[in-house]
Amino acid sequence: MLAVISDVHGNLEALEVVLSDIRKRGVKDIIFLGDAVGYGPDPEVVLEVLRNECLIMIAGNHDRAVIDPGLEEYFNEIAKEALRWTRSVLSRRSTEFLRSLPLKTGYFYQDQAILAVHASPKEPEQWHYILTLSEALMNFYYFMERFCFIGHSHAPFVVEKSDLGELMVRTDRPCRIRDNCRYIINAGSVGQPRDGDPRACYVIFNGSNIDFIRLPYDIHKTQKKMKEAGLPYPLIYRLEKGV
Ligand code: ZN
Repeated sequence: MLAVISDVHGNLEALEVVLSDIRKRGVKDIIFLGDAVGYGPDPEVVLEVLRNECLIMIAGNHDRAVIDPGLEEYFNEIAKEALRWTRSVLSRRSTEFLRSLPLKTGYFYQDQAILAVHASPKEPEQWHYILTLSEALMNFYYFMERFCFIGHSHAPFVVEKSDLGELMVRTDRPCRIRDNCRYIINAGSVGQPRDGDPRACYVIFNGSNIDFIRLPYDIHKTQKKMKEAGLPYPLIYRLEKGV
């Protein structure tokens, strides 16, 4: 089995709950899809934990903007403020580590080719969102692998494309993989879900099923740390709403 996690955003409490669930299932291989930092109060520890636990790590837009302030212009004011705070607390070692992360990477699991990318296979460096079926359809032409795992929007989904070109949003859980189909899977967000469900989200993939796991964590503890760090109030509030 393979665990796919994304968008932790400095939320240590959510990450710890997810990692302990992954361990309980005996899953060894973890792919991280980017945005280790930004928004949350524990960027340094979260990075340390991720680099110890993950087989593969790629960069998200927040990870890149922390090391390149020139990218800040693409963020809203509260995200910018959180980025600046994150930059001020990260060690040099962590900053250098973020710099070493690629934008995408390929992986084989049980002979199945997988692409891991934070935002989209088409122009990963442009951080496009895949929010509609037509955006998903276009992106299927920008990778060769059978499975593409993404994050970025913090909203989990599975889009399936048959060899006849039919597209389908799959909502059955667990989602059973069908022959002659390719997939774009958004793994959701560990540390700041935005699909209306505040519980941490991640994916278990065993080669024949894709399963989204939702786990409650101590949101109030994370919020308390954010208040103490002086992070913007909307970022604190949204955690309990899952928006
Ligand atoms: Zn994110």
